Amino acid sequence: MGAFFLMKLYDYIIVGQGLAGTLLAFQLKRLGKRVFVIDKYRKSTSSKVAFGAYNPMVLKRFTACWKVEEQLQPLYDFIHNFEETFQTSIHTSLKLLRKFHSIQEQNLWLEKSEKPRLRPFMNAEFTPNTSDWIHADHGYGEVNHAGRVDLKKMISLFRHQLETEDTLLDEDLDYNSLEIAENLVSYKSIMAKKIVFCEGHRLTQTPFFNYLPLMRTKGEIVTVKLDGLELNELIKSNISVLPLGNDEYKVGATFNWEDKDEICTEEAKQELLSKLAGLVKMAPELVHHEAGLRPTVKDRRALLGAHPNHSNVYVFNGLGTRGLLISPYLSLQLINAMEQGVPLDPEVDIKRYESEMTC
Ligand SMILES: Cc1cc2nc3c(=O)[nH]c(=O)nc-3n(C[C@H](O)[C@H](O)[C@H](O)COP(=O)(O)OP(=O)(O)OC[C@H]3O[C@@H](n4cnc5c(N)ncnc54)[C@H](O)[C@@H]3O)c2cc1C
Repeated sequence: MGAFFLMKLYDYIIVGQGLAGTLLAFQLKRLGKRVFVIDKYRKSTSSKVAFGAYNPMVLKRFTACWKVEEQLQPLYDFIHNFEETFQTSIHTSLKLLRKFHSIQEQNLWLEKSEKPRLRPFMNAEFTPNTSDWIHADHGYGEVNHAGRVDLKKMISLFRHQLETEDTLLDEDLDYNSLEIAENLVSYKSIMAKKIVFCEGHRLTQTPFFNYLPLMRTKGEIVTVKLDGLELNELIKSNISVLPLGNDEYKVGATFNWEDKDEICTEEAKQELLSKLAGLVKMAPELVHHEAGLRPTVKDRRALLGAHPNHSNVYVFNGLGTRGLLISPYLSLQLINAMEQGVPLDPEVDIKRYESEMTC
C-alpha cells in the first residue's frame, strides 16, 4: 500500500529519446498528456550523428518521396512549435543543389520538372557552378523546400526540460522490472496507461518487438574544415556536403548493410574523403568522424502500432534514412491511433508483420 502511494501515474512512458521519442513526447505534452521518458544517454546515436537534413525528393532518379505532400506541413508545424516553446532556433532553410553528372541527367531533370507532382519541388532552370573550387561542369538542379534541423540541439533542449520536470530516467530499460497489465504499465516507481518503444536500432533487443524486420544500416560521416570554400548550399553529388559555418562541412554518408556496430572505420573515412576529392579541389582538414545505425526496415516503411497481444504497448520505429521528414507526420498518426483509435496507414502499421510473430 505504501509503495503504491509513492508511485507516480503518467499517461505515457516513452522508451528512447532520439528523434522518434523526442517528437512523440513533445507532441503528447502539447496535448496536455503526462509523459515520462526512459532514455540511456549515449553520445553517439543515429539521431545525433545525422545531418538533420530534409528534402522532398529522392535524388537518384528525381522522384518524390513517399507521401511527401502530407509530410511537409507537419514538419513545419513541429519546427515552429518547438522553436516557440523553447524560444530558440533549430531550423535552417537550405538551398539544395543536385550536381548533374551528364547531359542525360540534365535532360531527365527537365523532363521530370514538368510533371505536376514534381513541379513544386524542382526548379526547371539549371544553376551554373560559380566556384573555382568545385568540379561541377554540368551545373546543378535546385530542389525547393529543403532544410536542416539541428537534431543534437533539439534532443538536448528537450532532455533538459524533462530533467527539470523530473520526468526522465537515464538508464537502459530493465525488461524484468516492467509489468504490463490490461490498462496499466508499471516500471519501478513509475506507472502509466501506455508505453511506447522508440529505441531506434536497439528495437532488435526488445522482447515485445524483436520479431519486426529491422535491418539496421550503418552510416558514417566526417566533418571537415575547407578554408575559403565559402559554400552556403547543401550539395548532393555521390555524397552530400553540408555547410555548418566557420569553414566546417559535414560530408556523408556511407551505407553499410553488413556491420551492425557504431564503430568508425578507416575504410568509410577513406571512401568519404575520396568522394569529396571528386567534388572539391581542396585538401580537407579532418575535424570529426562519426558512425550510427539507421533503423531501416525490409519494406522501407516505418514501424508503428500496438503489440498484437498488448493493446497498451506500442512501437514507433523504422524511421530509416529520412527520419526527420516523416517523423512529425507519423507521430501525429500514432497519437490519433493511441488516443482515438484512428486506424494507422496500413503501409506503416506493424499489423503487416503479424505473421512473423512466433509467440
Ligand atoms: C550517418 C547518418 C546520417 C543521417 N542523416 C539523416 C538526415 O540527414 N536526415 C534524416 O532525416 N535522417 C538521417 N539519418 C537517419 C536518422 O538519423 C534516423 O531516421 C533517426 O534519427 C532515428 O531516430 P530514432 O529515435 O528512431 O533512433 P535513435 O536516434 O537511435 O534513438 C534511440 C534512443 O533510444 C535510446 N534507447 C534505445 N533503447 C533503449 C532502452 N531499452 N532503454 C533506454 N533507452 C534506450 C538510445 O540511447 C537513443 O537515445 C541519418 C542516419 C545516419 C546514421
